[in-house]
Amino acid sequence: MTEPALPDPAYLQQIAAETQLRAATLATATPAQALYTGAPEALRASIERHVAAVSEDLDHIVHTLHANPETAYQEHHSAHVLGEVLAKHGIDVTTGVHGVDTALRAEIVGGKPGKTIAILSEYDALPDIGHACGHNVIAATGVGAFLALTSIKDQLKGRVVFLGTPAEEGHSGKEVMAQHGAFNCIDAAIMVHPYGYDLADQVWLGRRLLTVTFTGIAAHASAQPFMGRNALDAANLAYQGIGLLRQQLPPSDRVHTNITEGGESPNIIPSRAVMKLYARSRHPETLKDLSNRLADVARGAALMTGTGVDLRWDEHPPSLPIRTNTALTGRWVESQQRRGRQPLPAGVVSDTLAASTDFGNVSYRIPGIHPLIKIAGSETALHTKDFAAAACTEAAERGAYDGAAGLALTALDYLCDPELQRAVHEEFEAQGGPIDVPAFFD
Ligand SMILES: [Zn+2]
Ligand SMILES: [Zn+2]
Repeated sequence: MTEPALPDPAYLQQIAAETQLRAATLATATPAQALYTGAPEALRASIERHVAAVSEDLDHIVHTLHANPETAYQEHHSAHVLGEVLAKHGIDVTTGVHGVDTALRAEIVGGKPGKTIAILSEYDALPDIGHACGHNVIAATGVGAFLALTSIKDQLKGRVVFLGTPAEEGHSGKEVMAQHGAFNCIDAAIMVHPYGYDLADQVWLGRRLLTVTFTGIAAHASAQPFMGRNALDAANLAYQGIGLLRQQLPPSDRVHTNITEGGESPNIIPSRAVMKLYARSRHPETLKDLSNRLADVARGAALMTGTGVDLRWDEHPPSLPIRTNTALTGRWVESQQRRGRQPLPAGVVSDTLAASTDFGNVSYRIPGIHPLIKIAGSETALHTKDFAAAACTEAAERGAYDGAAGLALTALDYLCDPELQRAVHEEFEAQGGPIDVPAFFD
């Protein structure tokens, strides 16, 4: 028996060195949009005082969820913990909304009419490795921001909606909620994700799931192989075809696949083979193109082997890439600079390190932001045991306070400043306006 050859870390080290150089030479993210007036200083100071006043509640959420990780759609205890904290502060919260049992919704109405902004909390964990994506910290940031805004409710113009959004990991829970009206009558949505850097903005890829089932004809592999049609051969050719396709794909496209069924016994020509694929791309349109090419590869493999093929897209709804709103990002950056953080602009951390999130689907419906807040060492990747360990440290608690303050301040600025509102919505329209997400890949 031999051991696997360990990957050389040279490329990762090169990326880290380049990131360090860019971080040292590029100014922090201060887009011109950061210059909007935002909210009056007295209100902003009051928000920060209130976040400090609820810090024990935020610690409670960070640590209780971390100790009791629940995966997609199973987050009953986590939803209960968040609901309890909100209720303790006199907030009416509804559990089981917008088509999801473990989703939460609460709402405050300001003293004067105005726009509506949503603040989102995730709280699902990963199988086996718990809160390795730090959604326990996200949960605390959303609750903290909502409580802080509640403390100045009468002085707000407009409404603030708190949404607890389950099943981000692999399931696109926000798309399910969106299709059940979660974002109807909401003008903008914001959330923050923990990470190894403070980043104002980062590339997030769109993602679709595909299941390909090849159906062949079983035959005795020795006596009558000519009477068989080999489904495993089709899966094998599709796997090779995807490998060859990779050379012609844009550098940010990703395809991951495995063969989950491929016959039982070597002496029978396999009549059934199943492949699971993830397709990821940087733009909705390029994801559509990649989808079409993958479907062609699968159909070609079926034709070559005389097998039948069935393509099932989107077992869970697709995630779109994130469309960032730079006007709102500017206010986020300003809020973080108040807290002593310096969020880096897009492009400092390599786009190679890109993943996907269902917040993308929200960001193509209404303007939004999904910045990253540092709670771990820059070498610590999401979805690792090391990141899970980082998600219950003092740095995670600080991330929860600064994230809560940042979301509350950004929401407050948006509700108070008509110039900022205009910029946010003009930018969103210039980016193409809302798209019909459920119909996009039809
Ligand atoms: Zn994740
Ligand atoms: Zn995550």
